[in-house]
Amino acid sequence: MAVFSRCSRAATAAKTPNAAAAATFSYLIRALSPFSSSSSTTFDPENGLNCNKPAGLGILKREPKGRNVQWAFLGCPGVGKGTYASRLSNLLCIPHIATGDLVRDELASSGPLSSQLKEIVNQGKLVSDEIIIDLLSKRLEKGEAKGESGFILDGFPRTVRQAEILEGVTDIDLVINLKLWEEALLAKCLGRRICSECGGNYNVASIDIKAENGRPGMYMDPLPPPPECASKLITRPDDTEEVVKNRLRIYQAMTRPVEDFYRSRGKLLEFDLPGGIPESWPKLLCALNLEDHDDKQSAAA
Ligand code: AMP
Repeated sequence: MAVFSRCSRAATAAKTPNAAAAATFSYLIRALSPFSSSSSTTFDPENGLNCNKPAGLGILKREPKGRNVQWAFLGCPGVGKGTYASRLSNLLCIPHIATGDLVRDELASSGPLSSQLKEIVNQGKLVSDEIIIDLLSKRLEKGEAKGESGFILDGFPRTVRQAEILEGVTDIDLVINLKLWEEALLAKCLGRRICSECGGNYNVASIDIKAENGRPGMYMDPLPPPPECASKLITRPDDTEEVVKNRLRIYQAMTRPVEDFYRSRGKLLEFDLPGGIPESWPKLLCALNLEDHDDKQSAAA
């Protein structure tokens, strides 16, 4: 995807204000939004499967132009972007690209960026737009060389500038904004466990939020590891209480405006998670018009 080498060049050029304008305008090839509305669409978990589907989402696997879908997930740390992005990736046979994973791979590689990144990531801060776009561009170019088409981005864009650069170089069809109450987010980050061998993501938190003041309660079961992973679990260094709180603050300051960016372009699908995977996955499929897809059952297993 030559698009993303342009993306990388745009980010580099955007270091100075004049260059930023030039980069923004020269790469600005915005396409018409696939949605007819100019605002976001909200999925209401209370309405069950009679959900409100955004116009233009009958696309499923392929966009009219013959390419695979290009979607992105937004949402606070711990909301479950990785879980749902990877399920959709399996269902639609489209790569799931998590920029957090690209950063962690770079950290593990002990390459030139490694020590610089470690300090930033372990404090819960954002890596610079230039670095993250460079990592993403390389990942997309590698995928393109292997014949990949389409993507589900997870954790990108996280700043309005990243969104502008992305919008300037390719068409994002849909941005899914996952939402969950803050008390559940912290518990989910603190309960996250990763298998040091296979990289599988699990969660030991059992979330039980009581109904109050008209707000319904919420229960989320833990997601236990299979026996072969149980003795190899590790926690992410940025999943401590202090760092998670910092990441949530940074989300509010830097990433919340990205929601508005896509909302104003009619590309944002708001999705309030109604609970854990068993309740949320079928409703997410429904909101995405994927409920009749043949592979739905196997992906949900
Ligand atoms: P995540 O796994 O998505 O929580 O990302 C882990 C860390 O990687 C973040 O806390 C940031 O330090 C860094 N990171 C991931 N994606 C981005 C991005 N789009 N922009 C800046 N930093 C990022």
